[in-house]
Amino acid sequence: MKLVEVLIERKAESLNRPFSYIYLGSKEVGEGFRVIIPFAHSKVMGYVINVIDTNKSHEEIEKETGFKLSEVIDVVDEKPLLNDELMKLAKRMSEYYLSPLISVLQSMLPTSLKPSLSALKGPKIAYDSYLRLLDDNEEGLTPKQIELIRRLKNNGPILKKDYKSPSIINKLLSLNKIEIVKVEKSRLEIPEYKKEKSKVLTSDQLEAVKSIIDTDKTVTLLHGVTGSGKTEVYLKLSELTLKEGKNVLMLVPEISLTPVMVEYFQRRFNNKVAILHSDLTPAEKYDEYRRISKGETRVVVGARSAIFAPLDNIGLIILDEEHVESYKQDSSPYYHAKDVAIFRAEHFRAKVVLGSATPSLESMARAQKGVYHYVRLSKRINNQELPRTSIIDLGRAYNLTRDSFIFSKRLIDELSGVLSRKEQAILLINRRGFSGYITCRSCGHMFMCPNCDIALTYHKEDNLLKCHHCGHVELSPEVCPNCGSKYLSHSGFGTERIVKEINKLFPEARVLRLDSDVGEVRNNIAKTIAKFSNNEADILVGTQMIAKGHDFPNVTLVGVVLADIGLSLPSFRSTERAFELITQAVGRSGRSNKEGIAIIQTYNPTHYAISLAAKQDYESFYKKEMQVRKISQYPPYTYLASLEISGQNEENVIEMVHRIASKLMEQKFDGVTILGPVSPFIAKENNTYRRLILIKYKNDDKIKPYLRTILDSFKNKSQINVKVNVDPYSL
Ligand code: ADP
Ligand code: ZN
Ligand code: ZN
Repeated sequence: MKLVEVLIERKAESLNRPFSYIYLGSKEVGEGFRVIIPFAHSKVMGYVINVIDTNKSHEEIEKETGFKLSEVIDVVDEKPLLNDELMKLAKRMSEYYLSPLISVLQSMLPTSLKPSLSALKGPKIAYDSYLRLLDDNEEGLTPKQIELIRRLKNNGPILKKDYKSPSIINKLLSLNKIEIVKVEKSRLEIPEYKKEKSKVLTSDQLEAVKSIIDTDKTVTLLHGVTGSGKTEVYLKLSELTLKEGKNVLMLVPEISLTPVMVEYFQRRFNNKVAILHSDLTPAEKYDEYRRISKGETRVVVGARSAIFAPLDNIGLIILDEEHVESYKQDSSPYYHAKDVAIFRAEHFRAKVVLGSATPSLESMARAQKGVYHYVRLSKRINNQELPRTSIIDLGRAYNLTRDSFIFSKRLIDELSGVLSRKEQAILLINRRGFSGYITCRSCGHMFMCPNCDIALTYHKEDNLLKCHHCGHVELSPEVCPNCGSKYLSHSGFGTERIVKEINKLFPEARVLRLDSDVGEVRNNIAKTIAKFSNNEADILVGTQMIAKGHDFPNVTLVGVVLADIGLSLPSFRSTERAFELITQAVGRSGRSNKEGIAIIQTYNPTHYAISLAAKQDYESFYKKEMQVRKISQYPPYTYLASLEISGQNEENVIEMVHRIASKLMEQKFDGVTILGPVSPFIAKENNTYRRLILIKYKNDDKIKPYLRTILDSFKNKSQINVKVNVDPYSL
């Protein structure tokens, strides 16, 4: 008999412990297998973490443990889901991020393989059926039957669906002349690209490659200005890694950037690249995942979760645009792809390359301390100038015109110049939708989300009000529900409004919009980018999605429509984020042989994030912002974790958060500062109340185990939910 210890599929901290079951069946079972088990009067999926063979009887074990033990209903898998390396990785992540192991596993695996009952409804392996010849003796066959036999003899197996006559197939099958062979097929259709030879690297690029190969440090920060040719460095490093017999993992921060990177890699590596990102269907992802784990491909390109690709023998992991926040998952487990990359690289003795024009302060600080190897590409390819930039102060009347309350005179002039020269422009506004929020002019009523503490955004396209947080949607109002007035005012503006403004000012211009609303429809992002690349539009309007990475040679104007959005967000990272966004956006201009310019519209022209971004002066920004972080003691000068307490009952949440905060303060750990309790930016979300405690620490050897005991003390308490976010990005 076997005693099986499993984790239950539910993610709550209160269930984060092994549960024991007995298994009397004959299937193989071990660590990493999924089993179906009874739990609290229903069936759930369990993930086996330990199996003990025993001679004792059921009753003896129950007597010993003092628990009633139920039986495993069924074993789902025929082999463990994860290999040793990935299982160790899961455990290490669970410890580092103080996240339940089960939630780490849920994040690591594709839908069909997740330890969750719903996975059984996920996509199954798809097969193609082939006809194969068994016996070519033609005696007694009809001419039609002989025709098929000869065809199989001459050409080898053919797809069953390519042969039109089922009756002949069935007859030959019954005579044992042919058989049907099933071959796994991949549902992901990747376009075949023409092979491309590598470019001749510039001396700067060559030096960068050499220096990354030569260093004995695990991590290299490749700091290259926008347009300095980092992609070519990635490709060369990948080529060399493959030559050494090792495999390559290439990450991009967002799906909007995957198609382009995929194309680069497919061209260079003979269309042998596997792709993993969220715009694939679950079936496609499943197929790619299995292709990788069977070792059929040696290069994987993908977004954040591709860091868990079951690729073996990794020699190189690249994170392009390493500063981008989407590398951090903002739900449990709150992992950052960079940390996971380093964990994996340590296992394989592989190299990690972090590329960016605007490295995160954390990465730059580590490079300066010598923890990371540092490589700089300080010039654009062919010594192309960085774009000339102008800051337009929206607070000055002389910059404005009656024709538009969104675009300054200068931006309108530059746009018409671009249109007449048949060049292209990018306009950035970091807010989607039509208007920021709606209020009643008579009584001041604000249209708020009923579930969350934030204003609803008006979307003109479908005439709906939407919560950008929980996804709540309601019909757009005709009158104020509070006083009945029909005078509703729209304030603030987003991508949709800008498109309308362009249509009004330049009716002949062809405009495309790119934001996460557009991305709702599968493949829309890739299509929009391809269209703009092919010059099928003059102006691209979008959110931060368009700011980074892209290489559109015909773009000679970038307009940051309102640089201030984001500066006022209550996060110690908001200034860094604004600087990066503007610098990256400006960097999209003038990347080929035509000179580029950038116009930055703002109400804060003297703010250092804006003025230094306009100058593309990363070094000065880094110095200045590091001083700010030092004074306020925020990362990278200290580590940060946030402890979130949430629940449906606000009073309980408040009482509990105070209890925990005072307990934490009583400990008086050296080098640990406790802040709070505080209300997070969004204190009510989906009808759940949230409170935070912030913990700053210089090293984690005391505080992390203590946080672990706090989490453990919530086991079996289901009214209150506790979570820790290690290195949080949003608060
Ligand atoms: P980055 O990622 O650093 O912003 P890219 O990798 O997009 O820059 O390169 C900018 C442009 O320079 C691209 O159009 C690319 O094709 C071109 N390029 C890069 N390296 C070379 C090279 N060695 N020779 C010629 N063109 C190059
Ligand atoms: Zn009103
Ligand atoms: Zn909401």
